[in-house]
Amino acid sequence: MLSTMQDAPLLISNMVRHGEWLYGDKKVFTVHADRVQEGTFFEISQRAEKLAKALTKLGVGDGDRVGTFMWNNQEHMEAYLAVPSMGAVLHTLNIRLFPEQLAFIINHADDKVIICDGSLIPLLAKVRDQLPNVQHIIVSGAGDRSLLGDVLDYEELLAAEKPGIVWPTFDERKAAAMCYTSGTTGDPKGVVYSHRSTWLHSLASMSSNSIGLSERDRTLLIVPMFHVNAWGVAYTAFFSGCEIIMPQMFLQGEPILNMSKTLRPTIALGVPTVWNDVLRAAAADPSADLSSLRGILCGGAAVPRSMIEAFKAKFGVEVVQGWGMTETSPLAAVSIPPYGSDPTHEVDYRVKAGRVVAGVQLRIVDDAGNVLPRDGKSVGEFEIAGPWITGSYYGVEAPDKFHDGWLRTGDVGTLDGEGFMVISDRSKDVIKSGGEWISSVELENEVIAHDGVFEAAVVAVPDARWDERPLCCVVRNPESGVTAEELREFLASRVAKWWIPERWTFIDSVPKTSTGKFDKKVLRAAYAAGELDVVQFD
Ligand code: AMP
Repeated sequence: MLSTMQDAPLLISNMVRHGEWLYGDKKVFTVHADRVQEGTFFEISQRAEKLAKALTKLGVGDGDRVGTFMWNNQEHMEAYLAVPSMGAVLHTLNIRLFPEQLAFIINHADDKVIICDGSLIPLLAKVRDQLPNVQHIIVSGAGDRSLLGDVLDYEELLAAEKPGIVWPTFDERKAAAMCYTSGTTGDPKGVVYSHRSTWLHSLASMSSNSIGLSERDRTLLIVPMFHVNAWGVAYTAFFSGCEIIMPQMFLQGEPILNMSKTLRPTIALGVPTVWNDVLRAAAADPSADLSSLRGILCGGAAVPRSMIEAFKAKFGVEVVQGWGMTETSPLAAVSIPPYGSDPTHEVDYRVKAGRVVAGVQLRIVDDAGNVLPRDGKSVGEFEIAGPWITGSYYGVEAPDKFHDGWLRTGDVGTLDGEGFMVISDRSKDVIKSGGEWISSVELENEVIAHDGVFEAAVVAVPDARWDERPLCCVVRNPESGVTAEELREFLASRVAKWWIPERWTFIDSVPKTSTGKFDKKVLRAAYAAGELDVVQFD
């Protein structure tokens, strides 16, 4: 028997209406070099309506893809709201991709129109002649437009329209937005989010067992809107009333400290490399003030214990670790210590990747696909399922990425009785030494705990005796002269003896992917090509 409930589709346009109706005075702050631009949710909603009308006139129809090549800013938010609400598909383009990959994803998604920030014109211009199906480029803000040939002006298009629109109604499973994985191996793969998945993901982000975003919050949104929808916050904002600070290109420690002081965010979201840089900048700034923050949501890569402890000790700020992927919308797990846990051991929970948020299911399997126990010891690959977890990739078959309807995450680790996942590695980064696993993530976290170390990346390298052994690549802090001997000694009391790397190299910076993660394949290749200066112990 079916229920008697209304069968209203879960559409992004409802979220837009809700935010405009209930939280019209709430603001989005966009940081520029010389000023802070402010827009209320009401104004943004009205401008989104005008944008939708302008796009319709340009020929954007039902299901057409509209690319955005933009920083985190108000205009990007307007596109986030307008494009799905009108029934088209928002395709956020990662501005850090190599030109070949950028052209590939624009053509693969068949983007019809691209909205581009003026400051990013030179990057898009590099591929303009490889995009035969892109009919219009709309530029927002100042920049050398001649590099792109014929373009339209964002503000002029909006000025020609009046607000007021009846957003169309359609099946909630319709595509709303898409994002390509960062593609460290092979071509990037497209993940398509639906209206329904975005809606449910936003509700999950408002749950107090996860990030708990609400109208009491002002979010400092450092995670880029060109990668996994900036963890969904642009949509959750209109649903929850939380305000947003958009930092555009000002993503270094110093400007982030400045925004924290002047714009007073309550929660800030970013990957660990960003927070490492904030700690570096704060060390040189006695007036650093993070007192408005109720928490930092940090994820996208493992969060070192030393970082969690430093934010707590120096600023009284709790770091909450989150785990997710492009394929998981991304919010899938959050590491909040269970209610009633001993405060002196909270950090032992915070270093873990987290517990799944309500609505998604997680399991761990061995190489043969057998489900392993939740005992905190059995090591296997995580598999995940749920209404905001992708069930396929756009336009390509990838049977090896799925297992009986579950997404294979490629993340390896353990799951304990309390439901906490601990990630020891990406499956492609695991180090198998003499048949036993060494966790590169754990080794990195231990090395970075040394005062003289700024960053550390550990990769597997071939070894005649053990098949593979860890190579530790260290970036020293500016005044540090720490040596490999000292670091080996430091590790002696912290990890099993056989884990301690024999091979060490000191580098200027760890190579990063387009989404700010350590690019370990570059380090492995540099080692194989003999390009690293390696100290080796017996
Ligand atoms: P992406 O799809 O580019 O967002 O990358 C997703 C991947 O980032 C995951 O599969 C993990 O390998 C990694 N990741 C995300 N969050 C965490 C975390 N808290 N700890 C360790 N790795 C993480």
